[in-house]
Amino acid sequence: MTANANPFESLQSQIEDAAVHLDVGDDVIDRLKHPERVLETNLTVELDDGSLERFRAYRSQFNGDRGPYKGGIRYHPGVTRDEVKALSGWMVYKCAVVNIPYGGGKGGIVIDPREYSQAELERITRAFATELRPFIGEDRDIPAPDVNTGQREMNWIKDTYETLENTTSPGVITGKAIESGGSYGRVEATGRSTMLTAREAFDYLGKDIAGATVAVQGYGNAGWIAANLLEEIGATVVAVSDSSGAIYAESGLDTQAVRSFKTDTGTVSDYEDADDEFSNEELLTLDVDLLVPAALENAIDEELAHDVQADVIAEAANGPLTPGADRVLAEQDVLVIPDILANAGGVTVSYFEWVQNRQRFYWSEERVNEELETLIVDAFDDLVETYETHDIDTFRTAAYVVAIQRVVNAFEEGGTFP
Ligand code: GLU
Repeated sequence: MTANANPFESLQSQIEDAAVHLDVGDDVIDRLKHPERVLETNLTVELDDGSLERFRAYRSQFNGDRGPYKGGIRYHPGVTRDEVKALSGWMVYKCAVVNIPYGGGKGGIVIDPREYSQAELERITRAFATELRPFIGEDRDIPAPDVNTGQREMNWIKDTYETLENTTSPGVITGKAIESGGSYGRVEATGRSTMLTAREAFDYLGKDIAGATVAVQGYGNAGWIAANLLEEIGATVVAVSDSSGAIYAESGLDTQAVRSFKTDTGTVSDYEDADDEFSNEELLTLDVDLLVPAALENAIDEELAHDVQADVIAEAANGPLTPGADRVLAEQDVLVIPDILANAGGVTVSYFEWVQNRQRFYWSEERVNEELETLIVDAFDDLVETYETHDIDTFRTAAYVVAIQRVVNAFEEGGTFP
């Protein structure tokens, strides 16, 4: 990480940049820059050795004008109240840009999950689910996975909620395992929308993604799937990284083999078929056609942005560019596909999961992927139309213009209460 921009301030400046292009009053915009409420709680949990430990946790419900709050829960030592607020706001505009009927929320626990046993993580997760119970529900707030959480945690949260409520309510949470009511294609969805939006962006620029060189920062669920699907459509993934560092192969990495290597050893470093190894920072400034930041916020700040050589950036992570980096990259004519569109596949297939849960009728993987592609490509086209007709300088601002207008329409139709 190269910078410590406050993500909540980044969110607010992104909204301000879009507001210039909208005919919406400052009072209404101000409302869209702050969460409706934030739960801050301390979970006291017994560890395996019998001692107690306290964990701070948050859930921010940013805006519910378009539907129930929606968004993941992350487990990370760097979680802060402002980070969770920002991430919940990004969810509002993400759901609006792909036009799914949700507001935005986000949660997090300040924890390094690698330091705890599975049994401890289960108790911590169930403690959080118990705190969340009065605030969540299929029609109120629907959590999902995020950094360092996945099907296992979602299954525990669903079970805790259903046990306490004495009901079955699989749609209270998404990102579950298939047997617990999950959807086909959900695990791959974030990486899939990253690939789809990159493909559309290359097409928009009159370039072909087949043969394009790609660097991917972060090899977790989003990064590795994006790399794999980009390889599938003919791109050459020359570099990938994780927190241990980056690996490079001029003729392209076998993304599946790198994934297996990481699963076995815990890192991508020392992968045998790489030509070279270097730092994450060097990966971000490689001379590639497409750069995919798929780790955490603030990966590229204003200073580093001057050295970025990629033509297109697809933000698989949430908030990987600071507003300063955005300005520099716009000046350098780098096309940035904003997080709220590029990684929106995750929440879009969460929406499909929720629809399936509520209908108790389950779709094939083929149907999920087809419907996902339709929504993402339509959203991309809406963004481009707004970008061109409003003479906007970045795709990010165009995405916010589309999204904010949709939220404002819902708000104004409903009016204020009381
Ligand atoms: N955590 C993911 C995101 O940031 C997915 C959220 C969801 O599926 O609700 O978009």
